[in-house]
Amino acid sequence: MTTDTNNAIVLENHAQLKKAVAITVAHGDGIGPEIMKATLRILEAAGANLEIEEIEIGEKVYLKGITTGIDASAWESLRRTKVFLKAPITTPQGGGYKSLNVTTRKVLGLYANVRPCVSYHPCVSTKHPIMDVVIVRENEEDLYAGIEHQQTDEVIQCLKLVSKPGTEKIIRYAFEYAKAYNRKKVSCFTKDNIMKMTDGLFHKMFDSVGEEYPEIEKEHCIVDIGAARLADTPEAFDVIVMPNLYGDILSDVAAQITGSVGLGGSANIGEGFAMFEAIHGSAPLIAGQNKANPSGLILGAVQMLVHIGQGDVAEKIHNAWLRTIEDGIHTSDIYDAQSSKSLTGTTGFADAVIERIGERPINFNAADYSKAIAGFKIKVTPEEPAVKELVGVDVFLHHKDRDPNKLAELINDLDSSGLKLSMITNRGTKVWPDGFPETFCTDHWRCRFKNDIKNGVSYQAVIDLLQRIQHRRLDIIKTENLYLMNGKEMFTAGQGQ
Ligand code: NAD
Repeated sequence: MTTDTNNAIVLENHAQLKKAVAITVAHGDGIGPEIMKATLRILEAAGANLEIEEIEIGEKVYLKGITTGIDASAWESLRRTKVFLKAPITTPQGGGYKSLNVTTRKVLGLYANVRPCVSYHPCVSTKHPIMDVVIVRENEEDLYAGIEHQQTDEVIQCLKLVSKPGTEKIIRYAFEYAKAYNRKKVSCFTKDNIMKMTDGLFHKMFDSVGEEYPEIEKEHCIVDIGAARLADTPEAFDVIVMPNLYGDILSDVAAQITGSVGLGGSANIGEGFAMFEAIHGSAPLIAGQNKANPSGLILGAVQMLVHIGQGDVAEKIHNAWLRTIEDGIHTSDIYDAQSSKSLTGTTGFADAVIERIGERPINFNAADYSKAIAGFKIKVTPEEPAVKELVGVDVFLHHKDRDPNKLAELINDLDSSGLKLSMITNRGTKVWPDGFPETFCTDHWRCRFKNDIKNGVSYQAVIDLLQRIQHRRLDIIKTENLYLMNGKEMFTAGQGQ
């Protein structure tokens, strides 16, 4: 290892004379510096051909008053290298600090989060001896758009945004991943029995893109029963693709049931950038004690080496790591008197992996990256613009009186160019006409005005309607236009309608 004039640390590979690949490294907070040091030592010992630029992110940057946790010089390094090996960071509580992980994923377009979750039975205690699941989580959309508003005294809204290109990219990525890694099945979890349009798009995209991969078995599960099956019989799954929120929750469940959250590595992949990390956080309670398991970050670095075309080095490290686990050299999070042989710390574990470079596991299947593809190119089908026609509007009101019939009386005669009150819902449930007196109502009402004729309406008709509502001194909190797209209604009915 040498330091060049730009203060970049160079891991030299004397065996290969190929140009070193520039990567950006952040040592992070809590246990971050310890596990990063262990990982970099292993990368160097295995001959990774890397030119490392170091940046500071996380707690220290937040505490300087930078609410994103990352400054301009760090972004410059990331733009230059396009590959980021990141240790976990601590997000300070309160103070308007934004999650650096969510920001990095979204700003750099890292749309796919790939988390392999594998059991190492009988060497690591687990309730699930047979488990080798890869969770492919959509990383940019869904409820993580972070668009939230309090609209009335009683009701707060969070927008769930799902796009066609975003959905197509992640579904294609999951199938391409399965093909590249010789996986047999891709499962998709959604809640499209309830969210028929957003999760419905994800499910439909899974079915249509899936047809292009006839050699791969496909299944769709509603996320609740899918999650229950994953926690109970993970051996039934191979690759699982999910929208952001379900993927976030279930990838932690899947990692934890392999034996320890400390064992999981994660790749965040975009078109031009990629970030690699452990799935766990900065574990502040064990920081600085040489106790942390560096495995998650080591396996994240293995994914990085495959991504940058150094699959041979990735294979060496992964096999040495498997052999270490198989030899029972374990950190305290996975140490068990029955299956472990030696309790070690972060440094000792890294030493053990380095000693085994060049060895392969005896009982576990050895890692083989000889056919792995360094980054897949994902194409997205261009969308033909639809014929879009305005046919109505949902007007959301903040109104204190909880009687829907009285509200209907106030707005039922406000017809504007054919727009007529057709329904009132409260938290999505139809309460007028013919509502049930038992339905609990908040102060947040959706009043649907629809065209009573077949033709569309002008936006001016909506503006006129809003003015009439305003003249009745009602509090309009927002509107949603109702569209036909290519002649099809692109909005859902009220529950009970
Ligand atoms: P955590 O993952 O840090 O810890 C959860 C539990 O797992 C703790 O008991 C911890 O001791 C243990 N653990 C985690 N990693 C371990 C390892 N490598 N070896 C041994 N034991 C390990 O989750 P948390 O406590 O909820 O969060 C702590 C901090 O980390 C918070 O500030 C949070 O915002 C941050 N965080 C960061 C990331 C990231 O940077 N990617 C991810 C999650 C949480």
